[in-house]
Amino acid sequence: MIRQSVMGTMPFYCSALPDLDPVWQIDEQFSIRSRDISRGYEAVPITCVNGVDNEPCPDNFKYVPESCVTSPLNIDKDITRLQHCGCADDCASSSCMCAQLSLRCWYDSDGRLPLDFCQFEPPVLFECNHACSCWRSCRNRVVQNGLRVRLQLFRTEKMGWGVRAVQDIPQGTFVCEYVGEIIRDTEADKRENDSFLFTLDNKVGFPVRTCDFQTGQRTSRVSG
Ligand SMILES: [Zn+2]
Ligand SMILES: [Zn+2]
Ligand SMILES: [Zn+2]
Repeated sequence: MIRQSVMGTMPFYCSALPDLDPVWQIDEQFSIRSRDISRGYEAVPITCVNGVDNEPCPDNFKYVPESCVTSPLNIDKDITRLQHCGCADDCASSSCMCAQLSLRCWYDSDGRLPLDFCQFEPPVLFECNHACSCWRSCRNRVVQNGLRVRLQLFRTEKMGWGVRAVQDIPQGTFVCEYVGEIIRDTEADKRENDSFLFTLDNKVGFPVRTCDFQTGQRTSRVSG
């Protein structure tokens, strides 16, 4: 199954991990069902393998690299209302306003969280954005850089499809973001399968939720 991870709110970060099982590599050689379920939308491909039975790569989901809407939603995208910093450096100092919103900039120079980062009551991590004065390469940007670790969709013996990492992931590494459809609360109430719904913080005045794209049953962006 998937390598153990600690799930915070969003996104997911890896905790301590066991060593890789080399048999995964053997499976991949003989039973690739898809060379990239993200269709090239991620910086690294997400393969789909099946070393168990004849099931093809599942097609009852749409992989989306970022959250999307499927009905009109009044989402405020005005960047002049975004909190931002005026840093001229790489946002690694305590004077960065964005880092202060997260208590401090938690990312190290490799984009990882420190070993003493509180996984159980994590602070909100506020990353730099378009309204900031810093460069796109500043220290305070990790989640927005997207998937960087190698993940794989694989067929399990008894539990259907699962997701696993096919590389060692150091503790504190960002794995991936949970994204999907953003829908109104009223629409969420109509969905029969609500097991993947998350309530989003929203200042527009009505509750919104995110769920898996289209089916509400499959992860649209896999978690580690
Ligand atoms: Zn800054
Ligand atoms: Zn910055
Ligand atoms: Zn900033």
